[in-house]
Amino acid sequence: MRASGSERHPGNVAGPWFVDRRCIDCDATRQVAPDLFTRVDRQSVVTRQPTTPAEEERMWRAALACPTKSVRRDPPQPRPPGLYPHEFADGVAYCGYNSPDSYGANSFLVRRPAGNVLVDSPRFVRPLVDHVAAHGGLAHVLLTHRDDVADAERWAQRFGARVWIHRADADAAPFATDVVDGDEPVEVQPELVLVPCPGHTRGSVLFLLEDRFLFTGDSLYWSRTHEDLAVHVRQTWYSLDVQLASLARVAEEHRFSAVLAGHGSRHETTREDMHDRLVALVDRHRADG
Ligand code: SF4
Repeated sequence: MRASGSERHPGNVAGPWFVDRRCIDCDATRQVAPDLFTRVDRQSVVTRQPTTPAEEERMWRAALACPTKSVRRDPPQPRPPGLYPHEFADGVAYCGYNSPDSYGANSFLVRRPAGNVLVDSPRFVRPLVDHVAAHGGLAHVLLTHRDDVADAERWAQRFGARVWIHRADADAAPFATDVVDGDEPVEVQPELVLVPCPGHTRGSVLFLLEDRFLFTGDSLYWSRTHEDLAVHVRQTWYSLDVQLASLARVAEEHRFSAVLAGHGSRHETTREDMHDRLVALVDRHRADG
């Protein structure tokens, strides 16, 4: 009999929480609760059942982040309210509810005096929509590249938000209001800049907020394995050489202390440390040829 995918992965530890076989290995659970999940045969499994209220909360956050709803509990329990968006730094929150349409990419909500901003798109779900509606709506939806559009149109329509994307990826978001050309930075709001970064896709861009937070889409991420900045070499769809040139230019022209990725972990350190790591990353890959 063919498996439906809803059965437990045999690698899960015994207990109520488990991951089923529909997991697409997007990594979101392992970012949210690295102490409770690991990777086995290119899928996530539960390695330890939560035993404290904080761990229970992290498990629920992981379950709500999962794009395939693969993190489940038997017997079921009512989900706790208010877990997303999860603010982790001044006005910047992780949305959770990663979408299968973006292969489970992370998205972020930023509270701003000039109007709130969504970076890439989570699922258009009631708990998030209600939160955004109760906290000032949305002024802008910022798309880092063509792969992470997901429910952006629904978010933009619901809140009358402008939608930004680079021309080279704009066919993925024909509803966009602000299509950016060329390779020069463009101001979206005061202290919020779109920085073209072709490479992962032709139209990939970064969004730099307050010379601190760099929203990178799939152009750059923090590797938990190497505890360093990294690029998705095998998932570079356009050109790794072009991507390295783009990142070298970012290191020359911009400063940031936090990297917030679509796929991959986020991390904050000092601006100097980020700069040095980015330069070293580019040099390392160029030396590898
Ligand atoms: S979030 Fe879901 S799909 Fe992604 S790795 Fe975790 S269990 Fe798998």
